Amino acid sequence: PLPAKIYGKRANSAGVELGDRKELAALLGGIAKASRTVNAVPLIDGVKAAGKAQNVISPVNGATVGTVVFATADEAAKAVGIAKKAFVSWSRVPVETRAKALEKAGDLLESHRDLLMDLLSREAGKTLDDGIAEIREAVDFCRYYAAEARRQFASDKAMPGPTGEDNKLRHRGRGAFVCISPWNFPLAIFLGQVTAALAAGNTVVAKPAEQTPLIAYEAIRLLHEAGVPKDAVLYVPGDGSVGAALTSHADIAGVAFTGSTDTAWAINRALAAKKGPIVPLIAETGGLNAMIVDATALSEQVADDVVMSAFRSAGQRCSALRILYLQEDIADNMLEMIEGAARELTLGDPSLASTDVGPIIDQAQRDMLAAHIAAMRTSQKVRYAGTAPGEGLFFAPHIVELNSAAALEKEVFGPVLHVVRWKAKDLDAVLDQIASTGYGLTFGLHTRIEATVAKVIDRLDIGNVYVNRNTIGAVVGTQPFGGSGLSGTGPKAGGPSYLTRFALEQVVSVNT
Ligand code: GLU
Repeated sequence: PLPAKIYGKRANSAGVELGDRKELAALLGGIAKASRTVNAVPLIDGVKAAGKAQNVISPVNGATVGTVVFATADEAAKAVGIAKKAFVSWSRVPVETRAKALEKAGDLLESHRDLLMDLLSREAGKTLDDGIAEIREAVDFCRYYAAEARRQFASDKAMPGPTGEDNKLRHRGRGAFVCISPWNFPLAIFLGQVTAALAAGNTVVAKPAEQTPLIAYEAIRLLHEAGVPKDAVLYVPGDGSVGAALTSHADIAGVAFTGSTDTAWAINRALAAKKGPIVPLIAETGGLNAMIVDATALSEQVADDVVMSAFRSAGQRCSALRILYLQEDIADNMLEMIEGAARELTLGDPSLASTDVGPIIDQAQRDMLAAHIAAMRTSQKVRYAGTAPGEGLFFAPHIVELNSAAALEKEVFGPVLHVVRWKAKDLDAVLDQIASTGYGLTFGLHTRIEATVAKVIDRLDIGNVYVNRNTIGAVVGTQPFGGSGLSGTGPKAGGPSYLTRFALEQVVSVNT
């Protein structure tokens, strides 16, 4: 739980016991009742957007989930102007009022759980447990950033100084912030960025991922209902041209981005080329996440944690495990256990409680995975290929043994686990190899030797290190999340430093 001293009586948002028949039946009944077609039309200055109108197609079965009208690049630019104007008043709204609105938004997310669950399943292909976890994370972001804004920004901080001088540090918003979020956490990451920016006193232009505009539309609707003015947070769905129009706009005050490293570079270039103020980029990108397992590890737990880290959410998490380093002596035994556990996974319709792994988000991603496995077959050993349902965008878990870790240079975003064997004397070389990738998001270590834990933590410059557990599902306020190097800029989402990056520091020195 979040420490009560700082965060009041509220703990993290409550879950659902899916193993309990009654709770599960209530959830499924609620989802069926709440399910509806969502038609998302952005309003920019009260005028309906005029971009491309299109159906949003479910990755589960190709059915239409709803419709969306994209904004045009011009409308996106207009939205920045509106947010800039609205900043004048929103930045002067007391911190307490902003915090209350965010807390109300958290409550509204909870009370609209079933509608959101339905959209997470149909629009993003999320399984029930992933959907529940995502809603909880989104609620936690609302409450955590409200609490952090109160703690850090509600009053000025007196700074030490000479007698006769009064020095104070205060925080205020920066202006119109652009938030660009990915399809793999279309609610939690989308709202995490937006609520952080709002909590710090900014106004926001929010561009959801092209694949998942509908749940984002509902999230913004709930923020408005919670009391955030319509011109303080604008919903601007669109394709890459909208993202480019936003990030190259002279009047933006900062960008929060989660997505690929390539796009983060492109945003950096756009920010460098634009006129106007020099603004921060808060980026969280991908990872070539590794796990080292030595001969002292508990094998059952390793098998569980590896399958969870590599295959849960169909491997479509930035935090997912991509390369498993198994100490040679235990490798065959471990691989047998991991393969056995992978075989037990049920792929299929994510709205069923029996499903462990849902679909891949779209055809392009699925094609990329198929091409990767085809390439691996020519030079490496594909040790295990699961079976996927014949219809739909499913891709079964795969286990590939690499001749050397160098055979994998880029993140492969899906349920493909790569395995490398190592000898006890070569731990340093393994650590060098991991460090040399330049990525630094998550890392797992399974060992019972304390000296190894200390050595590995010291050697690796990685954002989130998990010892003797899985590497996914960072909890707001408990495991602030984010990486370094090719994996992002920091500061960490759901951590105490995040909001300050969205804020402007002002020091006032008064000669008394
Ligand atoms: N925070 C998520 C986790 O810990 C991953 C976020 C992402 O995939 O971008 O699993």
